[in-house]
Amino acid sequence: MFLRTLLLILGAGLLLAACVKTASQSNKPYDLLIRNARVVDGTGNPWFLADVAVRGDRIVRVGRNLPGEARQTLDARNRILAPGFIDVHAHAENVYENPSERFVRMGVTTLVTGNCGSSVTAVDSFLVLAANRPIALNIATLVGHNSVRRKVMGEVNRAPTADELRQMEALVEKGMQDGAVGFSTGLIYVPGTYAKTDEVVALAKAAAKHGGVYASHIRNEEGKVYEAIREAIHVGRETGMPVEISHFKVGSKRMWGESEKTLDLVREARRGGLQVTVDQYAYTASSTRLSSNLIPAWALAGGPEEGKRRLGHPDTLARIVAEMKTELANDGFTDYSFAVVANYKADTTLNGKSIAQLAQLVRRDSTLDGQIAQIFDMYRGGDAQMVYHKMDEPDVERILREPFTMVASDAGPGNYLSGVPHPRGYGNNARVLGRYVRERQVISLEDAIRKMTSLPAQTFGFRDRGLVREGYVADLLLIDEATVGDRATFEAPHQYAAGFDYVIVNGKPVVAEGKNTGTLPGKAIRRE
Ligand SMILES: [Zn+2]
Repeated sequence: MFLRTLLLILGAGLLLAACVKTASQSNKPYDLLIRNARVVDGTGNPWFLADVAVRGDRIVRVGRNLPGEARQTLDARNRILAPGFIDVHAHAENVYENPSERFVRMGVTTLVTGNCGSSVTAVDSFLVLAANRPIALNIATLVGHNSVRRKVMGEVNRAPTADELRQMEALVEKGMQDGAVGFSTGLIYVPGTYAKTDEVVALAKAAAKHGGVYASHIRNEEGKVYEAIREAIHVGRETGMPVEISHFKVGSKRMWGESEKTLDLVREARRGGLQVTVDQYAYTASSTRLSSNLIPAWALAGGPEEGKRRLGHPDTLARIVAEMKTELANDGFTDYSFAVVANYKADTTLNGKSIAQLAQLVRRDSTLDGQIAQIFDMYRGGDAQMVYHKMDEPDVERILREPFTMVASDAGPGNYLSGVPHPRGYGNNARVLGRYVRERQVISLEDAIRKMTSLPAQTFGFRDRGLVREGYVADLLLIDEATVGDRATFEAPHQYAAGFDYVIVNGKPVVAEGKNTGTLPGKAIRRE
């Protein structure tokens, strides 16, 4: 009896203490109070009118006419208030050295790097850096197959020995233990392209022990795209990992329109109980290296020196040229005018021109053979970053409409005005909101924002981001629905997006009144 009374008294005391604590906290002014916003909360629900209060790095209240003081109050004047965008397909290993302004200016507050099989192999030291070298946005990483394979086996074109496989498994596991959000492959790239499916399954199994997602730049996005999608799904089935197919596309002119059927493979896998999602950038052009998209992978084995030696051997050269011509014809093209130089370090005056133009300009020979010779010259000169105009608008729109498609850039941080990069790094999210929501009405505003926020958060395991909810991290945007859009074009890509008035990362504005504040509140995010 006495014990029970004592417990009751203790309990009441604790309750009282708790009440006092809550009361004192709610009397404390908010750090930021955003009033009169049209909240698009990331769920896909229609917007609602509310105030949103932030204290520290958290959203603490969402509601109408919130009482209380705030250090800073913003009148949203019916602007859209949305969660910060999560770009799940970035290449941002250089995030500590290069500015991320192009991303934050289009509303991106979190990047997932380590895609396409290419990542740091020391995940812990990469993530730890965020504490010492401040960045504008949040960063998470996958552990990449190509990087792990290169570290253990170099660039050889063969299967791993049992010992090599064990070493790779250990590296993947270490990356996952250190907080990687999943395992990525880039099966068109050296050296990952030399891996058979069983190797990928073995390494994905090593990752799967720790959770996370299997994100794949699949083995083919052109004529063999069906087999490639099936391979990704197979890896998911064998390992139980959720599958994310990166930059989902139909990259062969001959197959334009077949996205209906490629999407069907994903729908079918989902019906069968496998979690498959995809991401996409909102353009009809892709971007990657010159060699990896135009020269057969076997010819690149062993690295550039061996590759160049093969080009110097007449029989091998003839075989390479023949394969390139077949590939080109299979993709429905008659020349390389679809391939435009984004950045050729050896001679930046070539940037912005197509291979067909350059063959004429540099070699005075615009024949197909002249164009192929131009490609080899640039490979010998250190390779180049390219933009490939290979897709069709209706496919892009059909893929965007699919509920399991998220929006991601496939871009990286970089210096303003450097090269003629694909405009997606400056405009991708803004383009979806301007072109595909407002102008073409392909999807609704609420759905577009869901594809940039809660869907990526759900898929990559960010439990307290991607929604405007009390208790969630205050990654927030104020967007002008009437003017939001991309300005970056293929010809003039270095132009920030329009319509983002405020971009708030972890409670701190990195963009205020449309201008970069220089604040660097980004954090590393580890898999939970
Ligand atoms: Zn890729």
